[in-house]
Amino acid sequence: ARTPPYRGRFAPSPTGPLHLGSLTAALASRLEAHRHNGTWLLRIEDIDRGREVPGAASGILHALDLHGFTWDGPVVYQKNRETAYEEAVDQLLASKLAYPCGCTRRNRVIGSLGSAIYPGTCRQGLPAGRRTRAIRARTHDRPISFSDSLQGNQEQSLESTTGDFVIRRADGWYAYQLAVVVDDAWQGITEIVRGMDLLDSTPRQLYLQHCLQLPTPHYAHLPLVVDQNGNKLSKSTGSAALDPRCPGENLWLALRLLRQNPPTSLCRAPSHALWDWARAHWSPTALQGVRTSRLSDLSA
Ligand code: GLU
Repeated sequence: ARTPPYRGRFAPSPTGPLHLGSLTAALASRLEAHRHNGTWLLRIEDIDRGREVPGAASGILHALDLHGFTWDGPVVYQKNRETAYEEAVDQLLASKLAYPCGCTRRNRVIGSLGSAIYPGTCRQGLPAGRRTRAIRARTHDRPISFSDSLQGNQEQSLESTTGDFVIRRADGWYAYQLAVVVDDAWQGITEIVRGMDLLDSTPRQLYLQHCLQLPTPHYAHLPLVVDQNGNKLSKSTGSAALDPRCPGENLWLALRLLRQNPPTSLCRAPSHALWDWARAHWSPTALQGVRTSRLSDLSA
């Protein structure tokens, strides 16, 4: 069979400004698409209204533009995609691969002696007197495995690691795990390049792709950018926004975090010079098996 043309994506949640960690993920994903003469799409993952920061989505798009990113086609907003998520949940319910759950947080903790794994209380039907709160995917104990192009072979049994996970939350919003799978398939994504923090989510996503009869893309999980204390840089915990006055320097740092060796002379160069260099020299090989990338190691 003919392999479909490369289609990559960047899918930020609008929970804060773009920081060096998310710039690094966006850059690697963009450069991989360039290397394969592929397409690169943007999706704003704005389904979690509780975590959304007003203005963050447009701020992220502006910052990407300022750093010289180009993307194909219109930006997709998950807010506009609810019908598709609803259809997917209905399909899973109809095939008994998902079920309504009436547990509150308190029921769950008691049931599972404090562990985060759902004990399966509502698996065989809602207990008397309970009403549907969330919808959960029904997992099994067979190992789900995949080969990550940077992190190697991975294997996870969902039943013992996450248990039956939520695909529609008690507040009515669809869960990230469901939305990401529906949208990656709808946008025809063939390659997912993203941070290591999502490696553990991948088996749940493979499982949902299987249940929904959707194709599975290739995955590459990048080292996580961490600060001097080993904490992930993250939009929602207030990592510093990128300084818009020096996009070239930000790109230079991101390339170093990606174990590339841009010449020091480019450190103060305009962003287009960094892109020229990066497109000519980008190679993900140096990232094989690397799990974290530390900002403080760059000063050397
Ligand atoms: N929206 C997720 C985040 O910002 C990323 C989703 C993904 O790349 O699969 O962490």
